[in-house]
Amino acid sequence: MRIEPRYEELFEPLQIGPVTAKNRFYQVPHCTGMGHALPRTLAAMRAMKAEGGWGVVCTEYCSINPTSDDHPHPFAAVWDDGDLANLAAMADQVHAHGALAGIELWHGGSYVSNLATRLPSIGVRSMPSRTEPIQSQRMDRSDIRALRQWHRAAATRARLAGFDIIYVYPTHGYLLAEFLSRSLNDRSDEYGGTLANRVRLVRELIEETRDAVGDRCAVAVRFSADGHGEAHLSADEARDILGMIGELPDLWDLVVSDYYGEEMATSRFAREASFEDRVAYVKRITSKPVVSVGRFTSPDTMVRQIRSGILDFIGAARPSIADPFLPTKIREDRIDDIRECIGCNICYAYNYRGAAIRCTQNPTMGEEWRRGWHPEHVPAGHGGSVLIVGAGPAGLEAAHILGKRGYTVALADAAAEPGGRVTLESRLPGLAEWARVRDYRLGQIRGMPNVSMYLGHALSAAEVREFGADHVLIATGARWRRNGVGRCHANPIPGLNSGSVLTPDDLMRGARPQGKVTVFDDDHYYMGPVLAGMLASTGALVTYVTAEGKAGHWSQYTGEQERTQQQMLELGIEIIVNTAVDGFDGEFVYLACVYSGRKHLRAASTLVLVTSREPSDALYRELVSLESESIDLKIQRIGDCRQPALIVHAVYAGHKAARELGEVPEHLAAKRDRTEI
Ligand code: ADP
Ligand code: SF4
Repeated sequence: MRIEPRYEELFEPLQIGPVTAKNRFYQVPHCTGMGHALPRTLAAMRAMKAEGGWGVVCTEYCSINPTSDDHPHPFAAVWDDGDLANLAAMADQVHAHGALAGIELWHGGSYVSNLATRLPSIGVRSMPSRTEPIQSQRMDRSDIRALRQWHRAAATRARLAGFDIIYVYPTHGYLLAEFLSRSLNDRSDEYGGTLANRVRLVRELIEETRDAVGDRCAVAVRFSADGHGEAHLSADEARDILGMIGELPDLWDLVVSDYYGEEMATSRFAREASFEDRVAYVKRITSKPVVSVGRFTSPDTMVRQIRSGILDFIGAARPSIADPFLPTKIREDRIDDIRECIGCNICYAYNYRGAAIRCTQNPTMGEEWRRGWHPEHVPAGHGGSVLIVGAGPAGLEAAHILGKRGYTVALADAAAEPGGRVTLESRLPGLAEWARVRDYRLGQIRGMPNVSMYLGHALSAAEVREFGADHVLIATGARWRRNGVGRCHANPIPGLNSGSVLTPDDLMRGARPQGKVTVFDDDHYYMGPVLAGMLASTGALVTYVTAEGKAGHWSQYTGEQERTQQQMLELGIEIIVNTAVDGFDGEFVYLACVYSGRKHLRAASTLVLVTSREPSDALYRELVSLESESIDLKIQRIGDCRQPALIVHAVYAGHKAARELGEVPEHLAAKRDRTEI
């Protein structure tokens, strides 16, 4: 197929040591929450990216030995020959679509706790694990020798499993980064002291990997271009390391020192290509190909990276999750069809929770094997008409998929514009990219003659029935509760009638209270902190109260918590933790410590309640009660009006309902990926 000339550079093959990538699209190693635990699910997911045109598709962090066990997070593993078949399944399926398969060999060092294997963790010196109240064992020379053997054996197995690119991984705080660290590495032997000594182990692993597999496989190094922070590895030292070993591997995969603030930052805190200035120098030091990430979704930005000599490969984790077919769409100049990542980090959060990866934009992510879902193809429908009430993320996704399946779709919304919560939330500070959830779907249905949209009129149950569609999907969303019911309060907070009590819905529709405002966050994700920040920026004196120990507690899983709290403090917001709001009289908010019950007051003229939401399911309920008189109407509720949750859940619910509409239930059973004896 012809390649769009503007983007030709992105489709030029490039040699990486002994192998050649067919184009410049490189899916860098990224976690999946699948790893060793869900091998079929994993292989099918990676294969989908290869099918979508990625020239290189890598594994996640792949443990080389049982002393590197990140349980309960399902990492990949190459501990012994028993792992070969599962790894080969991925490599083979990636090869089947003409892509190279990469494997990121990994040792977690002091960072891991070995909860499953119960072996002592090992480190450059004895250091606390990241999560457990235990420390690692200091490595002596024999441990270093053993590590080198494990790494060599893992590389040999990786080649046997069919991988083409094999990583040495000295960053992200794991074992090899400990050796590079000026602060942690206190050794007096040849592995400590000078920079040349601290880098010795990395050099040895690169050389030994090349020796073991270099005839057929490329050796890649994942490296932080600006070091690991001043105390560990300064930016100058990182540059010096590249000066020393820049020509040793076949490829440099570059990251930066600030993992949550930059490399994995959400769109609230960083834009596309936000750290190109920190990786750009590397190509002037090494002649080897360079790949790096930057949440690239714009082909023009990608071409600029190549043309201006910053990168040789466009690295991606999140953009490849949101759209496995991104390379194909660029090649075919179908730019409007790209499902752009919105930078929400929901993919990362669920891996962090130990569950298989999912994506707000791409509801098929993780369902390729289990449900046989393809991100670009849906089964043809069985004909007929569908009325969808509510054009939020659930309704829009359902309309998009049903449209593709050939149904006659009417999508109605009471609001003047489509998008529901996405339209409202994307107007909040920092959330503009979330509008991509709406815009991608609107773009898709715009060209479908079988999908019509009706805006600006709230449908009644009688009107829904009169419409006479064969199927009805109710996607009417949810409203934030005004009575304080949530995690802290099972029943309404008494006496909230006096004074100004607002909800996120009021603020999203324009309310801007002034004076002393208390935001009570019993939701613990982005909404409370984002609203507190918005009010502080528009002149209110804001106190933020949470029953958790940190602002936006759950956003630790999306990697946003630190930046969230930092930003709130910079905006002058007072943060009160471990505290619930028990009452409000228009002048004072009544607070109670969640541990001692000790009560205190805070002056406030407005209370903003970010507690929980009430499903807007009145229309559904009325229709279902009418339905008992008729057997013709097939009604389902989807999204927030069924289960108030995140946008990722609403899109998934819309997709699932639309894909399964009219299908025989027995054909829809999900497969189970499990170890069998
Ligand atoms: P979800 O996240 O489940 O998609 P949203 O809250 O984002 O839900 O969207 C729900 C949409 O439903 C809103 O845009 C709202 O205007 C619309 N809506 C609610 N009730 C009706 C109704 N009776 N008729 C038409 N649209 C409705
Ligand atoms: Fe991007 Fe969010 Fe999807 Fe992750 S979950 S790939 S951040 S849209």
